[in-house]
Amino acid sequence: MGYERDRVPAGTTVAAMTVSAGTDFCPGCGGSLVEQFVSAEGRDRLVCTQCARIHYVNPAPVAGTIPVSDGRLWLLQRGIEPRLGYWTFPAGFMEMGETVEEAACRETREELNLEVRLRGLIGVYSYATGTTIHIVYAADALTEPSAGEETLAFAAFLPQEIPWSELAFASTRDALQDWIRAAHGTA
Ligand SMILES: [Zn+2]
Repeated sequence: MGYERDRVPAGTTVAAMTVSAGTDFCPGCGGSLVEQFVSAEGRDRLVCTQCARIHYVNPAPVAGTIPVSDGRLWLLQRGIEPRLGYWTFPAGFMEMGETVEEAACRETREELNLEVRLRGLIGVYSYATGTTIHIVYAADALTEPSAGEETLAFAAFLPQEIPWSELAFASTRDALQDWIRAAHGTA
C-alpha cells in the first residue's frame, strides 16, 4: 500500500527534500529530527522538532549492467567499502538529471572504462531490510575494459566460472542468476 505525501497532519509542511537514513538534523532549518508517529500515514516518520516538517527516507535507486563479450561477462572487484574486495558487476547510485539507462551506462564507464549497448532489463532487486533498489540491464560490451578508480581488478567470466562465494551483494547474486536463466535457461 502506498502513501500520499499530501495527506499529512494540519500544521505540518512536507519537505521537498529527502534525507538519508541516519541523518540527525533538518536540512531545512537545522533542527533536530525525531522519529514520530504520523497518524495520517500510519507509521513513524522523521519529523523536525523545530519546523515540524516531515522528512521522508526512501530507498535509493542503483543502476547497473552485466556487460558481455563473446559469452563472458565482465565482473569487477570492488576497491571501496562496503564489500571491498568482493566481486560485482558495474553499478552505482543514480544522479539527478539522468535516466536509469544513462546511469547504468555511466557507472559502467566509470568502473570499467567500458562502453556498452543495453540489451534489456534483467530485473529490479529490492530487499525489505535494504536501503537501495537495484535496476540491472543486460549489455553488450563495445570496447575493452580497464580498471576505474574504485576498481581493484576485473575479469571476464564464463557463467560456470562466476565466483558465487565472493560476490558483493544479494542483488549481485540474484541478478547474475537471472541473467544466466535468461541467457541459458538454467541457473
Ligand atoms: Zn526543520
